[in-house]
Formats: sequence, C-alpha cells, structure tokens
Amino acid sequence: MDHRTFFITNIATVVIFAVSVTVLAWHNRRVAGMRYFAAALVLLLIKLVLQAISSGDRSSYTDLPANELYLISITIQFMGVYWFAVRKPTRFLWLWVAVAVLLCAYTVMFFLHVPYIGNVLNIPFVAICLGTAWIAARCRREGYRRISRVTAAVVFAQGCVAGYRAVITNLYYVHPWATNMAQQDPHWMYSLAAAGFLAECMAMCYIWLLVCELHGELAEQALTDPLTGAMNWRALESAAERETARSCRHGFPLSMIVIDIDHFKQLNDAHGHAAGDLVLKALVRIAKSMLRTQDILARTGGEEFVILLPDTTVQSGTAIAERIRKAVEELVIEYEGKAIRSEISAGVAQFEAAQGYECLMRRADAAMYKAKEQGRNRVLPSAAIA
Ligand code: GH3
Ligand code: MG
Ligand code: MG
Repeated sequence: MDHRTFFITNIATVVIFAVSVTVLAWHNRRVAGMRYFAAALVLLLIKLVLQAISSGDRSSYTDLPANELYLISITIQFMGVYWFAVRKPTRFLWLWVAVAVLLCAYTVMFFLHVPYIGNVLNIPFVAICLGTAWIAARCRREGYRRISRVTAAVVFAQGCVAGYRAVITNLYYVHPWATNMAQQDPHWMYSLAAAGFLAECMAMCYIWLLVCELHGELAEQALTDPLTGAMNWRALESAAERETARSCRHGFPLSMIVIDIDHFKQLNDAHGHAAGDLVLKALVRIAKSMLRTQDILARTGGEEFVILLPDTTVQSGTAIAERIRKAVEELVIEYEGKAIRSEISAGVAQFEAAQGYECLMRRADAAMYKAKEQGRNRVLPSAAIA
C-alpha cells in the first residue's frame, strides 16, 4: 500500500466519523462524553492531514504538531470514556498539566534535534491507552457491560499498536525528521494502518456508548413521572412485585403509605395550576429527603402518591408518614408574591403475605380516606379503621 492511498482513504473515513460523531454530540449536548469524543476525532483528523502533508512535501515540521495533537486526542478520548464509565465530575487538572509539560518538553527537544524524543510522547500515549482500557474494563454500569468490554479491548489494542510503533521509531527513526523515510517501511505503514483501523473501531464504540446512554434515558423516562421526578405506576408495580416476593421469602415487614393532598382543587383554583405543580414538586422533594434509598416513592395520580417501605413495620411507616405530613404543613411556597400552604392526609398499612399486594393497597387507601373523613391533615394506620 502506498502512503498516498493510505492517507486519502484514512482521512476520508475519519472525516465521515468526525462529522457523524460531531453531529450526534451537537444533538445530544447533555451527553458530555460525546463532546470529548467529537473533539478527539477532529484532532485526529487534523493530525492525519498534517502527517499527510509531511509525507508529501518532506517538511518534517508538520510532524511536530501532528504528534502533539495525537497525544491530546487520546487524552480527550480518555476523558470521554471516563465520563461514560465513571460519571463523576472530574477536572483532570493534573492530567492536563502533565500533558502540557510533555508537549513543551517535546517541542524544545524537537528544535534542539535531540534523538529519541518520540518516547516523550509515545510512552505517555501508551500509558493513557492502558489507563482508558482499565477504566472501561472496570465499568459496572447497568446496560454498559458489553460496550465497556469492547471499548477496553479496542483501547488496549490501540496501546499495543502505539507501543509497537514506539519500538520501531526507537530502532529506525531516532530523529523525528527521519520518519519521512518511514513511508517506505512496511512495518511503519501497516502499523499506522492498524492504528487508523482501531481509531475507526473506537469511533463505532463512541456511537455505541451514545446508544446505551439514550437507551438508559428512555428506560428511566418510561418509569418516571416527568413533573415531579417520582416513579410512575409502572415502576411502582414492578417494585411492588419485587418487594412483596422478598417479604414473602424472608418474612421481612413491608409497609405502604398512601398520600393525598388536601383540597388540592381549591389550591389550584385559588393560585393557578402552576402553583399546584410547585406544591407537587415540593412534596416529592420533602418526601425524598426523608426516605432511604431503598424506599420507593411513586406518583399514582394527580395529587396522589404511594410510598413503599421495605423492612418497615406499620408503626415505623406511620411515624415516617407523620414526619412528612408535618414538614408539608410547615412548608410555605412563595408564588407570585403570595404564600401558599398545603396539607396532606395519609393512610398506612403493612403487607400480609396471606392477603397479597392488592389488599395492601386497598387497606392503605381506605386508611387515607378515613383520615380525610376525620378532618384531613392527619395520618392513620390501617389498624385504626378495622
Ligand atoms: P381532597 O381533599 O378530598 O383530596 O380534595 P382535592 O381537591 O384534593 O381532590 P380532587 O380529587 O377533587 O381534586 C384533585 C385535583 O388535582 C383536581 C386536579 O385539577 C388537580 N390535579 C391533578 N393533576 C394535577 C397536576 O399535574 N398539576 C396540578 N396543578 N393539579 C393537578
Ligand atoms: Mg385525590
Ligand atoms: Mg386531594
């Protein structure tokens, strides 16, 4: 394969991937990892163009920015994989300081014609590839199992190819400007083709990662109430199935709280629907702050909510419901210069294996309606209405 054909085909492929990933990143701006990937591909493209120019006119000075851009590109790719796999905000200041120091050292040594300076970039390049592969391989996020392993394998291969090219460079192209001769070396050209192929495989991984992300978002949306962020009916049903089965199997107590906002229609009529929405959101915020991670809070109707409390007796469930009722009673929401107050009624029941889930729901609901009858703004356990 002559280097001209290689660069033309490689650049054409990377242009297609860079454009596709950039467009996808633009349309999915909240998926920050895609922005890193788009940037990594654009830098890779510029690197290839510079490398192609260098091999064409023998001006080895384009090799300097080409090699530097390659290291920056792989560092940004690392940040993208980190975003998808770890999902913790990290600034990576230390990493960029190290990269900046290496780039400065490389530039100075390049102009001083110091031999073996390829290692200043090659060794960190391999290290970053291995670090990226390590992070991807350790990813345990749901829905990411397969893609993270494939990503780890491809980045690991990128590191191996880069390591092989570092060895070739050390053996034959001690000076960076000597790499112009490398165009005739099949080891150099085929390993460069392998690096190009792996970069394209990574671009496919970027798109696959985005698909996993969007799939996860859709699955979450299908189970979440969009206004309040609480779970919806469907999510409650599947959580209830899981928790009742667990309670039957191990005999752990399981309780349910049914909550209904008092005179919510009046509140809407007096202050407007938007004010009502604020109350719904505030109620969910308060309830969530008082619940444990394993508790399930779902919006089951307009102003009706259900809380499922694993490992909780009706007595503890009543105490939790009472805390939420009191917090809602004390809450004052400012809306268009007016202070809005609200109250809730709640019923609490404990699961009994012999009666089943439907009965639990009915008993908690009946207790809530009894609380309404008794004057609202109160919590009643189901035993109190038997
Ligand atoms: P009670 O104390 O007996 O529960 O009386 P209530 O007015 O709370 O009950 P009712 O069932 O008569 O009214 C429920 C109201 O909830 C009617 C409806 O307009 C309102 N609602 C339902 N969904 C929403 C919503 O998403 N946002 C707002 N702001 N209001 C809603
Ligand atoms: Mg209601
Ligand atoms: Mg109501």
